[in-house]
Parts: sequence; structure tokens; C-alpha cells
Amino acid sequence: MRYAVLSDIHSNLVALQAVLADLSEEEIDAYLCLGDIVGYGARPNQCCDIIRDLEAVCVRGNHDSAAVDPARAQWFTAPARACLLWTTDQLRDDNLEFLGSLPTVQIVDDHITICHGSIPDPDHYTVRPVDALMSFRAMKTPIAFFGHTHYSEWFVWSGDSEMPEEFPMPDGGELTEEVSRLYLVNPGAVGQPRDRNERASYAIYDADEGRVEIRRVSYDIALAAEQMKDAGLPEAMYARLWMGV
Ligand code: ZN
Repeated sequence: MRYAVLSDIHSNLVALQAVLADLSEEEIDAYLCLGDIVGYGARPNQCCDIIRDLEAVCVRGNHDSAAVDPARAQWFTAPARACLLWTTDQLRDDNLEFLGSLPTVQIVDDHITICHGSIPDPDHYTVRPVDALMSFRAMKTPIAFFGHTHYSEWFVWSGDSEMPEEFPMPDGGELTEEVSRLYLVNPGAVGQPRDRNERASYAIYDADEGRVEIRRVSYDIALAAEQMKDAGLPEAMYARLWMGV
């Protein structure tokens, strides 16, 4: 099985289309989506529609939850909250229902765990090895994928008393699984990368070969920003796209 793993699309249709164009030459059996389909960007319904058409196996991110339940938007920064309230207003009922129906953790094909922030807590940022340890201890599969930080990277753990090792991959990279180790992989953000690389990020996981590839894809940032500007979304939220922060 070959999986395309997408996270943190954040209503950035231009970036999502660039990633799907990059995938068009690949044989993909299934799509996995790690949450935050919406929030920040200007095309929430179109992004939900594409993910639903792909029949992606999805989990719900914190922005998806807040779009469905605006009371949760109070925990976000003012510009992020403005985007969320706009998003809730834009989303069709069927897409609100879709986002609200998503679980926070899923096991796929008995082999892969997907979550948003971490396995025990969808809102927790997995930034350091000690954060990764929380997920490793809760994992029941050899590999898991997470998002939320918008950094492309992976953590490797050999079990026992050692701390996990962290491998940041801001320019993409490849990982080959070893049987005795556990892997926690962040494919990076499609719609709003924050690892100082402005290109969209995603991963391909070949489960038969035990190989993960993280890829970075250029997209028309000016167009995505223009769509946000036209929608009246805060400038801070599209200015950052060029910087990859
Ligand atoms: Zn996010």
C-alpha cells in the first residue's frame, strides 16, 4: 500500500492543488489527512470537498473543532480567531457535519496511527523528544503520523529508557523503517508551513517497502494570499506564507 499523507491544509486550495498535481504521477492507494483542513485560508468548502472526494481517512484538528464549535475559538490568537469565525460562516452544513464527525485518532490498516497534535491529546504540540515520548508510549502501531506544529520532521524511538531522536526535515527527506524501532512522522503543512521553507509539504508512505518520503512543492503563494485578502482575512495570516512561518 502506498499512502499520501497530508496535514494542516488550512483552507489553502492553491497549495492543496499543487500537492495533488505533484501526486498525479504517483500510484497512491489511500489518502490520510491529519486535521486542520480549515482555518486561516480562503477556500474552506473547496478543501473539504476535495478531501471528501479523495475518501481520505481523516482526523479532526483543533481548527476543525473550533470551526464546528465557535466557543472553542476563544483559545486562539485574535487573527486566527477572525479566520475561524469567517470559516464557520462560510462552511456549508454538510462540511460542518463532516468536520464534526471526524475522530481525533484513527488506526489505519492495523499498521498506522494518525492523529493531529499527539496520540493522547489532539491539542498537544509535539515539538521536542519529550513530547514525542508521550505518543510513543501510547502507540499500538509501528508508525504514526501527526501534524499541528507545521514542521516537517520525524522522531525515532528504540523503546526502553532512551529518549526519542529528532530529525528535522525542512527540505524534505527519506526514511527507511527498521523493525525494532518506532516512528512518529510529521509530513509538514500543506497550507501554512512554519519551518522557514515556504513550499507546501506532504509525505508519501510506502508500507510494503517501509519507506517514508517527505516532499516540498512550490505553489502560487501570491494567488493564495490574494484570495485571503479578497475574503477580508487578516494580513498577518497571508504575509507569513511567503516566509514559511
Ligand atoms: Zn494547523
